[in-house]
Amino acid sequence: MIPYGRQDIGDEDIRAVLDVLKSDFLTQGPVVPRFEAAVAGQCGAAHAVAANSATSALHIACMALGLGPGDRLWTVPNTFVASANVGVYCGAEVDFVDIDPATYLMCPARLAEKLDRAEREGTLPKVVIPVHFAGQSCDMAAIGDLARRYGFRVIEDASHAIGARHRDRPVGDCAHSDICVFSFHPVKIITTAEGGLATTNDPGLAQRMELARSHGVTRDPALMDKSSEGGWYYQMVTLGYNYRMTEMQAALGLSQMDRLADFVARRNTLADRYDAMLDGLPLVRPVLGPANLSAWHLYPIQVEDRARVFGQLRASGIGVNVHYIPVHTQPFWQARGFGPGDFPVAEAYYARAISIPLYFGLTEADQDRVVEALRDAL
Ligand SMILES: *Cc1c(COP(=O)(O)O)cnc(C)c1O
Repeated sequence: MIPYGRQDIGDEDIRAVLDVLKSDFLTQGPVVPRFEAAVAGQCGAAHAVAANSATSALHIACMALGLGPGDRLWTVPNTFVASANVGVYCGAEVDFVDIDPATYLMCPARLAEKLDRAEREGTLPKVVIPVHFAGQSCDMAAIGDLARRYGFRVIEDASHAIGARHRDRPVGDCAHSDICVFSFHPVKIITTAEGGLATTNDPGLAQRMELARSHGVTRDPALMDKSSEGGWYYQMVTLGYNYRMTEMQAALGLSQMDRLADFVARRNTLADRYDAMLDGLPLVRPVLGPANLSAWHLYPIQVEDRARVFGQLRASGIGVNVHYIPVHTQPFWQARGFGPGDFPVAEAYYARAISIPLYFGLTEADQDRVVEALRDAL
């Protein structure tokens, strides 16, 4: 079976993890800050806070922005469930903004309409999470303009998009957002097995995310409400979790960062090759928004008779997948008042969507097999 995505682990990666296993630190030690510095440097962001998953990073990002009961978080239905769940973790109400039918990304025009209505009804969101679906950035300048006008905060869910560029700037520089979150799950662009990271340019947000990541406990006298009682002393100044990344994960991530440019370049080459080979077939190919260099986490196509095509591809050994079942149609969200018909663009896209294999190690022969099987199925 050719999978839809998979990690690429080299000898350097294995050596880096083994070195850490022989060192003094297994949980968060000196390698985690080196990994954070590497990602911050790649993104041109002032701060980076690593965590044990992107879900955790999104959660501490919401906590740092003060999201709580009585607040609202908006995201898109075309995402993984985690982008919405973090609002529930914080006791906030969650709502969704429909996607653009061409790019499958949060549609700034729909966001503007919904904000206009929410302003009149007194239901404006505190946090909006646009998702850089499939690896390309949302229109962050437009979303940032709306954030200033309506006074909400922005967390980019860039789980798919490390190494991507938008208007010639790296995704993660937070030029139009408060915080940007990456995932290092094995199917994503680089991996730490499980892992995630948040970038920000705001030192206060970085500090709050660091506290939330580690029990709300600090040894920094500047953060304590009275002076230290001795070398053993720490204070718990807020409620936090144990969301720390291990040294093994950070070492793997640091080593993978060395190949980020290669990973993204190869994915772009393969996506271009799909574009050329699929031209003329009865399917909709993915479209990039203006001035986007995608990290190409996914290559989503739309076809008629999706269930049959999907089944036939799987039967021919092609590990296709579907991204995403619209979040608001999940039983959990239907029990909270959402239902089919609420976000018709995301639903119409989902009804025809298939993600075909795309990953660093996919060979051209594999890719030819995928296209052949797809041609047969269509
Ligand atoms: C993978 C993913 C997440 C969650 O990432 P984890 O690191 O597995 O917690 C969140 N949002 C999106 C869009 C994702 O693809």
